[in-house]
Amino acid sequence: MMRPIVALVVFVLAALPALALGGPAEGVRVLHCGVLLDRPGEPARHNATVIIRDGVIERVLDGIVMDVGVPGDEPAEFIDLSDRFVLPGLIDCHTHLTFQSVPVGERVRRAMSETTNHQTIDGVVYAQRTLMAGFTTVRNVGSAGGTATALRDRIEAGVIPGPRMLCSGPSVTVTGGHGDWTNSFSPALRPDQGPETAPSDGPGEVRRAVRARVREGVDLIKITATGGVLSMTAAGVDQQFFQDELDAIVEAAHMMGRKVAAHAHGADGIKAALRAGVDSIEHGTYLDDEAIALFVETGAYLVPTIHAGKYVEVQAGIEGYYPPEIREKAAAVGPVMQGALARAHEGGVRIAFGTDVGVGAHGTNALEFVYMAGAGMSPTECIVAATVNAADLCGLGDQIGTIEPGKRADIVAVVGDPLGDVSVLQNIDFVMKDGRVFRRE
Ligand SMILES: [Zn+2]
Repeated sequence: MMRPIVALVVFVLAALPALALGGPAEGVRVLHCGVLLDRPGEPARHNATVIIRDGVIERVLDGIVMDVGVPGDEPAEFIDLSDRFVLPGLIDCHTHLTFQSVPVGERVRRAMSETTNHQTIDGVVYAQRTLMAGFTTVRNVGSAGGTATALRDRIEAGVIPGPRMLCSGPSVTVTGGHGDWTNSFSPALRPDQGPETAPSDGPGEVRRAVRARVREGVDLIKITATGGVLSMTAAGVDQQFFQDELDAIVEAAHMMGRKVAAHAHGADGIKAALRAGVDSIEHGTYLDDEAIALFVETGAYLVPTIHAGKYVEVQAGIEGYYPPEIREKAAAVGPVMQGALARAHEGGVRIAFGTDVGVGAHGTNALEFVYMAGAGMSPTECIVAATVNAADLCGLGDQIGTIEPGKRADIVAVVGDPLGDVSVLQNIDFVMKDGRVFRRE
């Protein structure tokens, strides 16, 4: 009588490895690369061979090498990229994989009638789209409680395909601030929120908010240091936390090993956040000379997100897409962001790639490269921002961002020469993460 059950269990266990999409791929893979940009910022090599074992880069050799010296009868899978430009997997430091902006009426309907489960399901699709576009790691900075961390964990477990995720969970925000999603809602429709999602005011409450997120398993802390474009309140885009609150957030986060990413548009909020010691400023729209000096002094990164600025600028032109309080901010902020990056770049600010997709469309992340080039960054500088610098900001500089022995095999490839025209990165057609091939054309 037990036999069918045993047989079923054996079948399910046997089927699992075939279904697994996460974790390092087992075995040896050999990539033959036409051009290999193994360490962005240094010259590319022509004809190179990358040997990967169990998802980790083992060796990088000059030339197209067939006899790679795999010991014994261990089978090696050869992958021919000899007509491709090969580079490290791209990293987007500012995504929102669990949502996609929609017209205001639909946004309110969803807030009134849906649960956060809907957002997690959306995230399954957007995560796959992101990975297929060549982004093997993202920093997801802002999501409803529990949604992004669930996505992160199931990608890591191999249940669904997606990029490696570092998650902040819900942004730490002030009452009525950007990130208080109950803005403009009737008190009758405002639920009681726990410390993981509730706005917080004063040094004591913001410390508690940081610690509550750490308890929920976040990888970093996201704060809204200033007002934002898409919050449904006419509170502008200037500073929203007091200095003592910002100081308390950064101290509490760093004490527990979490970096702090600060959303900031207005110059006062950018500078207050930098003085508090945040690790990155997201957007940085109205940064001034004093802010640039503070960036350079503290070593904080700017994550420019011009992608979102250009997107909201277009949407602001569509009648009825945004309510008036958002439309005015979108029309004003959008055009300024590219100029801010140009000034920051000229001033020597460290730049890490980030798009704010979720505002703009998921999977179009590489469009940011075009906007960065338009702000005066060279193709090499653009690629460094999305690999070496982004890996450093993520705190994963020893694992990703270059193709070197000991690092995870996160590798993408494209037809053309992104060092000549960075826009070709919009057409990535080979994607490997942890040695596992997710896209090959
Ligand atoms: Zn954002």
